[in-house]
Amino acid sequence: MTTRPAPETWLADLKAIVGDAGWIDDAEAMEPYLEEQRGLYRGQAPAIVCPATTDEVSRVLAYCNKAGIGVVPQGGNTGLCGGAVAEAGHIVLNLRRMKRVRSMDTVNNVMIVEAGCVLANLQSAATEAGRLFPLSLAAEGSCQIGGNLATNAGGTNAVRYGVARDLALGLEVVMADGRVWDGLSMLKKDNTGYDLRDLFIGSEGSLGIITAAVLRLFPQPGDVQTALLALENVDSALSVLNRLQQASDGRVSVCELMSAISVASATLHIPDCRPPFDDMPPWSLLVEISGGREDGELRPIFETVLEEAFEAGEIIDAVIAESRAQAQTLWRLRESIPEAQKQDGASIKHDVSVPLSRIPEFLERATAAVEAALPGARVCPFGHLGDGNIHFNVSQPVDGDRDAFLAEWERCNRVVHDIVAELDGSCSAEHGIGRLKRHELRRYKSSVALDAMRALKAALDPNGILNPGAMLPDA
Ligand code: FAD
Ligand code: ZN
Repeated sequence: MTTRPAPETWLADLKAIVGDAGWIDDAEAMEPYLEEQRGLYRGQAPAIVCPATTDEVSRVLAYCNKAGIGVVPQGGNTGLCGGAVAEAGHIVLNLRRMKRVRSMDTVNNVMIVEAGCVLANLQSAATEAGRLFPLSLAAEGSCQIGGNLATNAGGTNAVRYGVARDLALGLEVVMADGRVWDGLSMLKKDNTGYDLRDLFIGSEGSLGIITAAVLRLFPQPGDVQTALLALENVDSALSVLNRLQQASDGRVSVCELMSAISVASATLHIPDCRPPFDDMPPWSLLVEISGGREDGELRPIFETVLEEAFEAGEIIDAVIAESRAQAQTLWRLRESIPEAQKQDGASIKHDVSVPLSRIPEFLERATAAVEAALPGARVCPFGHLGDGNIHFNVSQPVDGDRDAFLAEWERCNRVVHDIVAELDGSCSAEHGIGRLKRHELRRYKSSVALDAMRALKAALDPNGILNPGAMLPDA
């Protein structure tokens, strides 16, 4: 049983734990913590609480657990499914003040970092130590590693190095009752019971608050080869990917697919964004292989494979970057797509994955089904082909009504996600569930899986204070 004090009491008590420097309750200053990336939700928290240490997180949670106050953990607030939105009467607990790299260790090849470190800063810290931390996504300048782990983020290098889950060896987590689990292990092999680390990764703040992590470091590649390929169809993209993997000993580090319409949108709306091909191909594929010790080392492999693919009719045109600057212009096409799509009006998003071999069938069926269900809607897919992960975004009809289109969100989701389920895929490949896709879990997860998830939640957070309203659908 919890007893909830009067608001002025519990707000003052929490403020006493974090001090003035960790307390935000001014309406204007709270704004960035209450708004949400897609504008679908709005937070209502009376205060943003920013602890500076694990001990402060622990005391805040112990207090809130006793008082029955909901706590919504928040990192950079770049999540795309409304996971870090606090309802009225709940607090936002933002980790931004916990931004220390506790240690950098080039013998064990790990760094121990606090949850509030911004991802781009960790990439730089690794580079300075002569190592690579490979997690990379367009929000890296503001998302935090705690948020990345809580959402099990993917991004553009997952095809080679895996998702966030694959990059953490250990975690420090504050449990709902305020106790601290020190799981900052550097061990690759540790079979001593249930893997708590894997339980917290991807739990979106619903089971505990991640305060620190042991992250894996990799050798810096001496050479990176980048190309943009023009393709007639997606089957060819899969063939090229497999050729590259075989020839490079699995060193494909990027494999990003773009439909013609997504490239056209980037070209139209974003300055200095131009495809290098005379005619717009139906599909473009951005590929990179990386490794070796010396600049240019992988070039012969790259050229040979692309030539073979050309001769086999899989590639209709290709541009291999001659410099990092030229590679950047190719990257710009891919990175500009999300921003460009905003300028095409409202967009209904799907972040889905299917087994690689089924991507062509998925794209064909889902495109036809959406075009039939929503006449005039523009299907605009792109994404991380190497991980089977497609951002199957649907833009509103040209000159159509924005609100009328968005009102079709659920119906459009149903059409797309039902096909994904038939193809043994997932309705959330990398963004998570948050508040946006809770009802999809009910439809697509088995009752066995949902029962197990609810049992875990009840065991680890019996008072239901952690991220109330996110992820798990009501029983
Ligand atoms: P928030 O948005 O603050 O929080 C996300 C969730 O994690 C919430 O449920 C929150 O409660 C929980 N949480 C946050 N910190 C903690 C913590 N310390 N402990 C426990 N729970 C916590 N995602 C991808 O996977 N791949 C991409 O390629 C990608 N590209 C993106 C591009 C853009 C332009 C944008 C805006 C977003 C993109 N995202 C992508 C989504 C987003 O950046 C990721 O989900 C990211 O991991 C969220 O990190 P964050 O720090 O912003 O977390
Ligand atoms: Zn993505």
